[in-house]
Amino acid sequence: MIYLDNNATTPVKAEVLKAMLPYFGELCVNASSPAAAHAGADRPRRDAAAALTRLLHAEDGNCFTFTSGATESNNWVFGQIASSLHKGTIIVSAIEHASVSEPAEALIKRGFKLQVVKVDSTGTVALDRLEDLLNPEVVLVSIIAANNETGVIQPLRDIGRLVRELAPSSLFHTDATQAVRKMAIDLSQDWAEVDLLSFSAHKFHGPKGLGGLYARPGLDLPPLLLGGGQEGGRRSGTLNTPALAGLAAACELAAAAEMQPVAALRDRFESDLIESFPSAIVHAKGAARLPNTSCFSIPGFVADEAADALASRGIAIGTGSACSSGTLQPPKSLLAMGVDYDLARAALRLSLSTDNTLAEISELLAQLTKIKAGNSLFTARSPHRASAPL
Ligand code: PMP
Repeated sequence: MIYLDNNATTPVKAEVLKAMLPYFGELCVNASSPAAAHAGADRPRRDAAAALTRLLHAEDGNCFTFTSGATESNNWVFGQIASSLHKGTIIVSAIEHASVSEPAEALIKRGFKLQVVKVDSTGTVALDRLEDLLNPEVVLVSIIAANNETGVIQPLRDIGRLVRELAPSSLFHTDATQAVRKMAIDLSQDWAEVDLLSFSAHKFHGPKGLGGLYARPGLDLPPLLLGGGQEGGRRSGTLNTPALAGLAAACELAAAAEMQPVAALRDRFESDLIESFPSAIVHAKGAARLPNTSCFSIPGFVADEAADALASRGIAIGTGSACSSGTLQPPKSLLAMGVDYDLARAALRLSLSTDNTLAEISELLAQLTKIKAGNSLFTARSPHRASAPL
């Protein structure tokens, strides 16, 4: 299988697996048991927190609470954490992952006002629109750090400064699930205004089922799960020590990852794509983007059928489509950017890792060319328009 869908999940690296294995066997001791310190079973959590502190330039390891992943972390932010705030206004961007947008919408029923800040045609949050929405009544602002569909990176430093200036008592959260490893993150400098940050290990070569929430020092978070009192009482449940050992190793690899060659491979793919398909569109090409992501449309293609045809030829690639009310919707970030509905419906997402090669992207282009020649995916224009419900 040629794997080109690394924004969906990544393979666990050999070093990560090696770090995990002892904690399934001889070091299986429960990290909360009296034997833990003697057996070394308390180490993975410490190592993971320390590795994250270094990678993200956080103040210290106490800033991190571990969860099952970014979905859980985001639901904590818009669940227990938001519920503990004064019932004011919540602002999210139009291009959030569903694990932010859905719990944010659920807060309307609980008495909060929800404002959705638009993005411009490059997929970047419009700062003037955000400025208009910010005021002292705002209690929580959540802006995705880098979009999973297009890879567009948001200007979090400028956004954070605006939030601090115009909504000084608001919490500022970012879903950084796609950003970790693919770009530099500095919570002590550019992202100093970030109060809460969600992440997930399986997006950067760690194991599935482990993520967490960073909280700025001094924030007293209401608990997510009650029970055994683990994670300082914030998130009860037996610690996933194998996964924590893997996360620590994945952070070390992330710190050393060289992303420039990945960007060069992505750029090469995009120029070869246009050469093979002159009518193809690369979305958000002019924006600041993650180095590994290319979201593109070949007019006439239907993304899910094309991805299916590619999978049957041994190539895994993303579509970004989401199933809503039983029908497949095109990537919402593209619709938010004002991309034509049919073009958005054709969008495929290439997301590379440091392991991918030129031969692999050449094979992708060769297979896309064959699929186009087979003509099977070309459909009549759909009756839907860009105004279709998201
Ligand atoms: N946020 C973003 C931006 C994502 O891309 C994803 C995964 N697709 C999530 C949140 C959810 O992450 P997890 O799989 O860890 O629940």
